[in-house]
Amino acid sequence: MVMSALADDSMEGRMTGSRGSAKAATFIAQQMGAVGLVPAGDSGYFQRVPIALTRRSNGQERLSLLTDFASLDTFPADKRRPGLNVVGMIRGSDPVLAREVVLVDAHYDHLGIGKPVNGDSIYNGADDDASGTTAVIEIARAIAAGLRPKRTILFVATTGEEVGLLGTRWFILHPPVALTSIVSNLEIEMIGRPDSLAGGPGRAWLTGYARSTMGAMFTAAGLPIVADARPSEHFFERSDNIAYAQMGIPAHALSTYNMHTDYHRPSDELSRINFRHMTQVIQAGVGAVRILADGAIPQWNKDGRPAAQ
Ligand SMILES: [Zn+2]
Repeated sequence: MVMSALADDSMEGRMTGSRGSAKAATFIAQQMGAVGLVPAGDSGYFQRVPIALTRRSNGQERLSLLTDFASLDTFPADKRRPGLNVVGMIRGSDPVLAREVVLVDAHYDHLGIGKPVNGDSIYNGADDDASGTTAVIEIARAIAAGLRPKRTILFVATTGEEVGLLGTRWFILHPPVALTSIVSNLEIEMIGRPDSLAGGPGRAWLTGYARSTMGAMFTAAGLPIVADARPSEHFFERSDNIAYAQMGIPAHALSTYNMHTDYHRPSDELSRINFRHMTQVIQAGVGAVRILADGAIPQWNKDGRPAAQ
């Protein structure tokens, strides 16, 4: 299964620019191919992202997004950390609406290999965000197997979220479709464990629910999707979706993160995933993406749109 592969120790925690992350990207591209998505990267399903280890003024090194590949070439080989987004598409069936694009994404990168906790040094990121990446692939599979959607759907697995949304920032600067054609964005972030504040197993919440009409559209359709019960955590602003929202695109994340203490620890593992719950949330995600692809375009509510960056 997709989820088990992504969260396996052999993926080495999928740190941006690492060997494990490249392995995960290859696996995701194979899955997109098996589902029948149209490749929409710059090299098949891959969208290459120029990333290098740069030195800060305080002497610490960090992963940085470069302006282009020519600048990547100026770095010594051991400082280059080329990254990969993985991008696939289902073309819409409606002659007019097919020009509009629904973006469905999740970040597949995580924290890699780090400080051991209880003898485990691989930060598998099963919930964060192998679960969301699995959802992107499974939603694509379900939609590709059914009636063709009216709008075009772009499915993206991004790199670099954990180190400053690097993959999404590159995607926005080098979009495979015109950004003005993107009418909505649904991100899937941490759906591997049920959250009692969402109503328990099989139910999910949407970050920034009241900001646009998207959440109400899902609720009206009977999907088990409610408002985020922890607005003080600012989850709406804490993941890839915020970059699109700041551009004016109604963009939210679907999640069931229950504030578990394995967050960003090696114990965010496959054994703690509730697969029944996750499967039900993915089904809700299929319904949600169908609504975005075939129904009305969500609109910002009054004061809901965040300020541009
Ligand atoms: Zn995450």
